[in-house]
Amino acid sequence: MSLSILRNRIGILPHHSKYGIVSRIGSANFLKAQQRTLFSFKNFLSKSKPQKQENRPKSLLPDNNLFYPLSKSPIKAIVEKGKTITEHGICPTCDTVHKASDASHEQHAHNNYSVAHSKRPTFECPDCGYPTHCSKEHWELDEQHKNEVCKYLRVANEDEHDLRSGRRMSEFEFPSSQSPEIVVNLSNWDTFFYTRNFLTIKNDRSLRHVSKILSYPITIGAVMHPYSPFVYGKGLTHEGVKSLTAIRTTIREHELAKSDKNLASMISPIRIFVLGARSEAMLPPLVYLQLHYLFPNSMLNVYFVGPECIPSPDETRSTVSISSKLSLKYYKGLFHEQIWSFAPFDPYNDIFFMFNPGIGHSLTHNSWKPTIDKLLETKCPIFGTGFNENDMNNDVSILEKEHGEQLDWLLQPRENPFASLKKDFGLNDLRVWAIANWGIYGFRGKTYEVRSVE
Ligand SMILES: [Zn+2]
Ligand SMILES: [Zn+2]
Repeated sequence: MSLSILRNRIGILPHHSKYGIVSRIGSANFLKAQQRTLFSFKNFLSKSKPQKQENRPKSLLPDNNLFYPLSKSPIKAIVEKGKTITEHGICPTCDTVHKASDASHEQHAHNNYSVAHSKRPTFECPDCGYPTHCSKEHWELDEQHKNEVCKYLRVANEDEHDLRSGRRMSEFEFPSSQSPEIVVNLSNWDTFFYTRNFLTIKNDRSLRHVSKILSYPITIGAVMHPYSPFVYGKGLTHEGVKSLTAIRTTIREHELAKSDKNLASMISPIRIFVLGARSEAMLPPLVYLQLHYLFPNSMLNVYFVGPECIPSPDETRSTVSISSKLSLKYYKGLFHEQIWSFAPFDPYNDIFFMFNPGIGHSLTHNSWKPTIDKLLETKCPIFGTGFNENDMNNDVSILEKEHGEQLDWLLQPRENPFASLKKDFGLNDLRVWAIANWGIYGFRGKTYEVRSVE
């Protein structure tokens, strides 16, 4: 099962995906909504023009029921999703049987070999509602589904119905800035939401919805912030301390510039590059205000760069200024091909993020390699995330193998306290799951070079 397919099919989405929520979040409606009500996110999931409040049904779903077999869902997109699974998925029981019988044969190079021998999943599990197996018999035989997979699919089913239920999504009404005396605690989601006063998140489902979106800006914030959860001795290396101290020095200068006009005329914005940007560039721009609130005095420019990056959520502008101190800029293309539009780089002002990039994946590896080479030359800190332990370790081992001599590790690979709390499933194999920004690591080009004198 290839992660790149997963990457492209589910939650961590390219913008053309038909099935995820992010493509809907990225709709132009959001920008209109933004002009109407600055901190309300309730409209950004609605498909068409939001109706007037009094006309809008509380929920489109009968009896507030959130669980339906996919084929019986009142939501068309979910029925379509079920169809996609029955057309492209595999029955895990068939798959296991064939793999076992193949074990004695020579290894088959073709990735889809087992798919060819597996019947399509047309039987819907009554407990999770997904089309999971080719038949009731094969469903009954599958202990792994019953014990491990089913409960997560059930949650995914209900979450998706909830998101599209048409109810008022008050959990997306995010808090505004807060008094500088209140220190944000970035240990984990709980402490973050508590100290940032997210009063509208009242249950685990809301937490999952919100964390999936905020995982991107808050992971960035957690790395850069003076009260970062990534500290020396807990994954952050000596080199990591140096790199992050450089960035925080600039953050401090921005604070001092508030009361020092001379300094204010000298400071330049911190540039946060998000490379290979996909769904993170499609989020409603206001989501990134939460990053701004972590650094209320800092000038931040976020650059989304990637071949799948659309110009901006409303597809017309390449720069969206969210506040006087925060701008989002969108560049479609590969970073290493556009590097001269961004050069020169400065380790005190520039920092790079790659969310779930798949550096180690066979399909994406080649397009990342020249970018990594260029990034290492900048000497600026680079942070990457992975979908799960395997995905992250693949990326890290490729970096070690191909660039080990040129790089210093800043943050040892580890779980990210600001990972999405939502599990996404591969539509062609429901046993494979992914979590946006599950794990995180950091590195940069070595800051010295050893040259032999001839
Ligand atoms: Zn089967
Ligand atoms: Zn099930």
